[in-house]
Amino acid sequence: MLYSKLPNTGTTIFTTMTQMAQQFGAINLAQGFPEFSPAGDLLDLVYKHLLLGNNQYTPMAGHYPLREAISSKISRLYGQEYDPETEITITAGATQALFTAIGTIVQEGDEVIVFEPAYDSYTPAIKLNGGTPVYIQLLAPDFNIDWEKVKRAITARTKLIILNSPHNPTGSVLSPEDLVTLAKIVSGTRIYLLSDEAYEHIIFDGLKHCSLAGNAQLRSRSFVVASLGKTYHATGWRMGYIVAPKAEMTEFRKIHQFTVFNSNAPIQFALAEFLNREYEYQNLPDFYQAKRDLFCNLLKDSSFKFTPASGSFFQSMDFSALTDLSDKAFVEWLVKEVGVAAIPYSAFYHQKTELQYVRFCFAKSDETLYRAAEKLHIVMNK
Ligand code: GLN
Repeated sequence: MLYSKLPNTGTTIFTTMTQMAQQFGAINLAQGFPEFSPAGDLLDLVYKHLLLGNNQYTPMAGHYPLREAISSKISRLYGQEYDPETEITITAGATQALFTAIGTIVQEGDEVIVFEPAYDSYTPAIKLNGGTPVYIQLLAPDFNIDWEKVKRAITARTKLIILNSPHNPTGSVLSPEDLVTLAKIVSGTRIYLLSDEAYEHIIFDGLKHCSLAGNAQLRSRSFVVASLGKTYHATGWRMGYIVAPKAEMTEFRKIHQFTVFNSNAPIQFALAEFLNREYEYQNLPDFYQAKRDLFCNLLKDSSFKFTPASGSFFQSMDFSALTDLSDKAFVEWLVKEVGVAAIPYSAFYHQKTELQYVRFCFAKSDETLYRAAEKLHIVMNK
């Protein structure tokens, strides 16, 4: 029998719930992916590059014009310069960027601060590299970071803090004050920061995304990850990127070259031409805020309790007014009996949690959201 390197890890909840949604014919608000197609112009560009013959390897770090386009986007939006030659790498989705970054930074015996609820890929990546996750709880209903707890959790072994804003699953976002406090806390230490910013363009109520790539004090210790799949409604293309200082990026690429070498070539060529169309991502906050508002309005008279998400395309809901069921039992019942799939919050915790929360993805057509809300209302009426 093969020794398991991840004995306590099963198949991810996202795969599990999508399979269950298919099996029971339920509306899939579980795994986070948009129901919409990428822009027609972008599809045309992909087609063009397939036909032009841009189907062979790109440079290992990614198609250079795409890296240039990313560099100018970061400069425009966040006011910092990143060298496309040495500080930007195109990855096969944000998940690969996160995994490779953790592999680059974490060594045997290192401690890594992880905020819970946490996206489920962080802990396995830390453990596979011999690190120890040190968990700090984000508390409902706001799920903001208590920086006093962070100060107390730091030891001589703390190598890395993993941040995620807009936050999956809670939808909370980091504020400018958070970054000021973080900068004070890490100043004078050798702690690295890994910032998962997959939902950087999906932020609401006039809030501005606070990227660590835009922070003059923090960027020298930060690896910042973004998802082109989330931004362009194309999660299946597996396209993301990571930026970091030159020396750190050199180490990242040593691992990246032996895991994926380079990501999908024709898509990179197409995105290199498409990325400078600013309106494509400038529209996203309004587009998704309307979805959030629709979904929240449809459920405002139900017995779900919730605070509207500040960012991401997820809305979390507390179902404790309805039942004592665990979140796992609740989502199983929802998918089988009600016909709506959701993600149970326990998937984002390393230990049992008392929270009775589920996460819904609202990156769906209005019609899908109406249909899902109607089904949920039948069981969640006050
Ligand atoms: N990021 C997506 C989510 O949170 C899922 C990604 C995946 O399935 N690996 O739902």
